[in-house]
Amino acid sequence: MQTTKIEKFDALVSCFEKIPGVGKKSALKYAYSVSLGDSFLGLNLAHSIEDAIRFLKHCSRCGGISENEICDICSDNARDKNTLCIVESPKDILTIEQSNSFNGVYFVFNNADRLEILQKNIIDNDIKEIIFALTPSINSDGLMLYIEDRLKNLDLNFTKIAQGIPTGVSLENIDMLSLTKAIKDRRTI
Ligand SMILES: [Zn+2]
Repeated sequence: MQTTKIEKFDALVSCFEKIPGVGKKSALKYAYSVSLGDSFLGLNLAHSIEDAIRFLKHCSRCGGISENEICDICSDNARDKNTLCIVESPKDILTIEQSNSFNGVYFVFNNADRLEILQKNIIDNDIKEIIFALTPSINSDGLMLYIEDRLKNLDLNFTKIAQGIPTGVSLENIDMLSLTKAIKDRRTI
């Protein structure tokens, strides 16, 4: 009986440990919190996770997080549909949205297969400007050149968010002020 209980606790700990950024110590703390510490919170969490998995999807237009086929940002007519910001991860959209510094639309470019969808998106929505909001690195420089080259036949203005963002630091770890400034100070590439 005793062994079974510990097994279940250990299973929970190892689940938490698999979450990026969560170490053994935090995993133990979380596992205790949601099981014996506050079982109401635990059940709520379990329900929220189940709901999120069941109802969340990637927007078919931008690749961002959505409950519908097309996300709220893509379907918002008040947004500037001619300016498209390319990010690496759907989470980056949430980070930029929190900064309140961008009113265009987004596109998540996380693998080469997305190029065709991006091209269609640009043509369908009459995109005029592409802003790259990528984590500065050699890889992202290569990605920008690749995308720019592939889209050179379309009449586009390419910009990237300003430096000031340290190399190798991902967008989600940047303070809002730096991110807002980086978007405002974007430059032509
Ligand atoms: Zn969308």
